[in-house]
Amino acid sequence: DIALYEAKKRGRGRVEFFTDGLRAQVVETKQTADDILRALEQGEFVAFFQPQFDARTRDIDGVEALVRWEHPERGLLAPDAFLRIAESLNVMHRIDEIVLDQALFHLRQWQAAGLAIPRVSVNISAQRLLEGGLLEKIEDLRFDPGSLCFELLESISFEDDDDAVLNTIERLKALGVDIEIDDFGTGHASIVNLLKLTPRKLKIDRQLITPILDSQRERQLVSSIIDIGRTCGIGIVAEGVETMDHAALLSDMGCQTLQGYAFARPMRAADFLAFALAHESRPENGRKRA
Ligand code: C2E
Ligand code: MG
Ligand code: MG
Ligand code: MG
Repeated sequence: DIALYEAKKRGRGRVEFFTDGLRAQVVETKQTADDILRALEQGEFVAFFQPQFDARTRDIDGVEALVRWEHPERGLLAPDAFLRIAESLNVMHRIDEIVLDQALFHLRQWQAAGLAIPRVSVNISAQRLLEGGLLEKIEDLRFDPGSLCFELLESISFEDDDDAVLNTIERLKALGVDIEIDDFGTGHASIVNLLKLTPRKLKIDRQLITPILDSQRERQLVSSIIDIGRTCGIGIVAEGVETMDHAALLSDMGCQTLQGYAFARPMRAADFLAFALAHESRPENGRKRA
């Protein structure tokens, strides 16, 4: 039967194609997994830094630490290439810890160099928040209250265990750590739940920011979020600010903090220092000299 024969052939072909693709993927994931464990030992994870700007004065208002992997063969890797695998290996908390240590180390150095950088923000995974011995670690660190911020994904903040999350966050706050909600507008946490965390700031996700010049719908949505922030006494950060037109509109709308390629990309600590020194010495940015 020709038809059956064809179908079998097609079917088999598809199965083979699928298993080949799957096998390649499994091999790659396994390789990356082995690689991550090696990289942790070798110290290949580094924090990059992206400045955040006061929308009104355009002074640097803070800086976000973002992990990169300096891979000996594959070059500099962004989190997309390894975070999910690191999470499944249960080592996200170790990466977060490396980034936290580097962030605090560099903040101290920049402040010692005379920069007016008030705070550093670090992304914290659910794994790190709930399992990683975070509180004990924070108790041992030295930092000025308010100079360390944890960015928590809206999508992870209430997934598992409300009480454990709230409790950990209360204790972090008591130790002087501020909380920011990351990627706001893309997760599924209710406003009521988020307000329980009393975050210092909400970071509006890039997906909502990008269209604001062209789409009235997103513009109004962002405007409403800024209003909510004002009502609740929570600052608003726009992420993914890619053009100065976005920056101008967001400033007009009353957004307090801007972060994005329009100003600077994430960079190495040394490059950030140079950037911040140059930025502070611009005549129009004379916060410290007024
Ligand atoms: P995120 O925390 O929401 O960080 C913002 C992401 O947007 C960063 O990507 C940043 O490089 C990128 N970005 C900033 N400005 C612009 C812009 O104007 N345009 C565009 N297109 N992109 C912009 P990145 O560094 O690849 O990080 C991706 C995500 O990985 C982060 O999203 C965060 O959720 C996670 N992540 C990064 N570092 C860490 C870390 O140390 N620990 C944990 N747990 N997660 C991290
Ligand atoms: Mg973030
Ligand atoms: Mg974000
Ligand atoms: Mg994100």
